[in-house]
Amino acid sequence: MELPSHEIETNLRNLGANLPEDVRLVAVSKYHPVEAIRVAYEAGQRIFGESRVQELVAKYEALRGIAPDIEWHFIGPLQTNKVKYLAPFVHMIQSVDSMRLLDEVNRCAQKHGRRIPILLEVHIAQEESKGGLEDDELMELIEYVYEHEEDYSGIELCGLMTMASFTEDEVQIEGEFLRLRSLFDRIKYSGLLRHPEAFTELSMGMSGDYPIAVRAGATLVRIGSAIFGER
Ligand SMILES: *Cc1c(COP(=O)(O)O)cnc(C)c1O
Repeated sequence: MELPSHEIETNLRNLGANLPEDVRLVAVSKYHPVEAIRVAYEAGQRIFGESRVQELVAKYEALRGIAPDIEWHFIGPLQTNKVKYLAPFVHMIQSVDSMRLLDEVNRCAQKHGRRIPILLEVHIAQEESKGGLEDDELMELIEYVYEHEEDYSGIELCGLMTMASFTEDEVQIEGEFLRLRSLFDRIKYSGLLRHPEAFTELSMGMSGDYPIAVRAGATLVRIGSAIFGER
C-alpha cells in the first residue's frame, strides 16, 4: 500500500526537523514507485537510495528528464557484472564490500571518464547474514589502494557504511555504530589515504535506529519506511 502524497511530505518534513543540519538524508525508495519519488522530489528531497540495479536504472531513466538533479546512491548487494549499468550516472556506491567489486567499479568508471565516490561497507552486526568487510579485510583493501593509487583514478574513497544488528537492544546498536565511527577515525588519520580530506562520510542509521546513529556521528542516514511506508 502506497502512502498518500501528503503523508510522504509530512514524513520528510518531520525528518528534516529532527536531523541536524550536517546530516544528510538518503531517501530509500526501493520497491516504491516512481510516483512516490516524484512526490519526495517535489518536497525538496534530492538524494535517493536504491538496492537493486535494474530497479535503479529504470527509475533513473523515468526521472532523468523531470528530476535531473537527483543524486542516486546505490546501497544494496552489487554483483560485479552489473556495475556497468550504474557507472554512467550513479552518484555514490555505498556498498563496496570486496576488492573485486572495487576493481570493477574503478574499471567501469574509468571507461566513462568518471571518478565514482564510494563507501566501503563494513560488517559490524552480529548476524552473519549481513554483508560487509571484516576489519582486517578493510585495512588490507585500504592499504592496497594506497600503494596502487595511480591505478585507482576511477574511484574516490569517501567513507564507511554499515547496518547495525536487527535488535531492540539500543545499547548494542549504539556500540556497533560507535565501533564504525572509531574505525572511520582510525582510517582517516592512518596516513593510508591519498585524499584524507575526501574521506568524510559515515553512512549508518535506518528508520528504526537513525537517532542512535546520529548521536554516534552519522553523516548520511538511509531511511525508507519512515518516509514511504512499509514495503
Ligand atoms: C532498505 C535499506 C534501508 C532502509 O531501511 P528502512 O528500515 O526502510 O529505513 C537502509 N539501508 C539499506 C542498506 C537498505 O537495504
